[in-house]
Amino acid sequence: MSKDKDLLASVSDISTDSEFFSPVPAGYRKGKARYCFVFGTVLSGLGKGIFSSCLAKLMQDKGLKVAPIKLEGYLNIDSGTLNPFRHGEVFVLDDGMECDMDLGTYERMLDQNLTRANFATSGQIFSSILHKERHGDYLGRDVQMIPHVTGEVKLKLRQLAAETDADMVFVEIGGTVGDLENAYFIEAMRELAYEDGPNSCCFVALTYILEPKTLGEQKSKAAQLGIKQLMQCGVQPDIIACRAANPVTEKVREKISIYSNVPLKRVISVPDSASIYMIPAMLRDAGLDFEVLRLLKIEDRINLRHERKLWARWCDFTDKIGTAKREVTIGITGKYTSVRDSYASIINALEHAGTALGCEAKVTWIETTDITDKNASEHLADVDAIIVPGGFGTRGAEGKIVCAKYARENNLPYLGLCFGFQMAVVEFARNVCGLTRANSTEVEPGGPEPVIDILPEQKKIEGLGGNMRLGGRDIELKPETLAWKLFGKADSIRMRFRHRYEVDPRYIEQLEKAGMVFSGKAPNQPIMQILELASHPFFLGTQAHPCLTSRPLKPQPMFVGFVAAAMQKHYPNEKLPDCIEATQKVCSRTN
Ligand code: GLN
Repeated sequence: MSKDKDLLASVSDISTDSEFFSPVPAGYRKGKARYCFVFGTVLSGLGKGIFSSCLAKLMQDKGLKVAPIKLEGYLNIDSGTLNPFRHGEVFVLDDGMECDMDLGTYERMLDQNLTRANFATSGQIFSSILHKERHGDYLGRDVQMIPHVTGEVKLKLRQLAAETDADMVFVEIGGTVGDLENAYFIEAMRELAYEDGPNSCCFVALTYILEPKTLGEQKSKAAQLGIKQLMQCGVQPDIIACRAANPVTEKVREKISIYSNVPLKRVISVPDSASIYMIPAMLRDAGLDFEVLRLLKIEDRINLRHERKLWARWCDFTDKIGTAKREVTIGITGKYTSVRDSYASIINALEHAGTALGCEAKVTWIETTDITDKNASEHLADVDAIIVPGGFGTRGAEGKIVCAKYARENNLPYLGLCFGFQMAVVEFARNVCGLTRANSTEVEPGGPEPVIDILPEQKKIEGLGGNMRLGGRDIELKPETLAWKLFGKADSIRMRFRHRYEVDPRYIEQLEKAGMVFSGKAPNQPIMQILELASHPFFLGTQAHPCLTSRPLKPQPMFVGFVAAAMQKHYPNEKLPDCIEATQKVCSRTN
């Protein structure tokens, strides 16, 4: 057996006498994919996903095929059961995977749909190992953290590389170096770099430079200790990205360089930025893209002509950020109002739409537990439009219904997303159809008028993990409706879903007769997916989550129309294009 073969024995090859265990998937070509590993030190929440996605974007622009993957240390199988208040929003991929919000950052930055192969948790890794153990795959061996668990991690990464035929795989390790739950990921990266050989991998440590107010200067000690911890795991970083509130001084960068054996040009300053979309330019200006290409020896794979074109297009977008001449205030109702991360995709979708329309969409949060019919006008006096986003449970539901009513009666632009769609149906049923006791069975189990009820396919399911109606689904649009016009008169579109409840089909006729238009439906199933009110300037609800598929250069039409409607509301005396015209202009330009 050659040395390589020895190291990279295939699964079926496992010899119980050998200490080597490094399964390699079929079709894996060593050297084709190069890896960039991104670790965090000092603190979590530094924006590893943002950094990694920006670097990946620079490589993708150069014509390289990139595949990101996020590794999470937690034991959950996916992010579906996580509380967004603790962990940020649950992002849903087209294939139905419920994952960390960083996958949303990658999809937006790369304008690329990802799959479950781009997300792995310790839960998945261990579940797979235990399954294999019961199947007898390790017969004769005690199953160990090293080499079996690390082998499983390497297998995941190589599978992704082989399946996507990537030039570069960007691996982001959740949490921080030093977390017990992440230790075996780091070990796996170290092993993979050895097995795939020189120039196959590049290690990036993201660190944080403190600037205590009392001292008034930047201090590097915490960063040094964090990097030292990584080195103790046998990993020599190639690049150190210093996150900080302000640009990192040369002196601090020098200290870090001396301490870590990383040349100064590869110790870069990544200060806070007003928009994450400015960060690719920051990394590019620091020359990081070419440093990585040189480290991995893949300069010969790039196409600079391709890059120039894409970069110019990207700069057209970033040049507009922060320069808007108009401003609207969007009220968002919601339970997790104190954490921006809980609504990351909505905030992004508003930023994409606003930037394209030359209008800053400022967000204000509305706590719905306090809102009643009587005080609604006070609470909503300052907003130009309102979003009722996704949600679960009963808290604040009545307040959301009040908001939908206020928006309907006062011509305030309304966008209901999933739960917000359902609450709009409940409101309409109560106040227009006269079904005064209408409700969702999620809010009032066993209520007398269940206009929103659990999906038939959900009734049979027990347990709460990964069992909603999840992922991308086609939606048939009804001609001549607002939705149909916003989507450029398309017959069918695709959006992503994550729900258990739906409009009870028994009420559809009654709702329609009273004036509710269901402009988007599931093909071949009576599942209502988009609603609107013909006599209102902009009253739109969708059972889907359109925010998940909005991209910086391809803003989502519902959000563009919504912000355009808010502009009309805010600037009634200006002759602004109506929401359909504005959306057509923006979306035909970008698609
Ligand atoms: N709780 C509602 C349902 O399960 C809405 C879900 C959501 O807003 N994502 O259908």
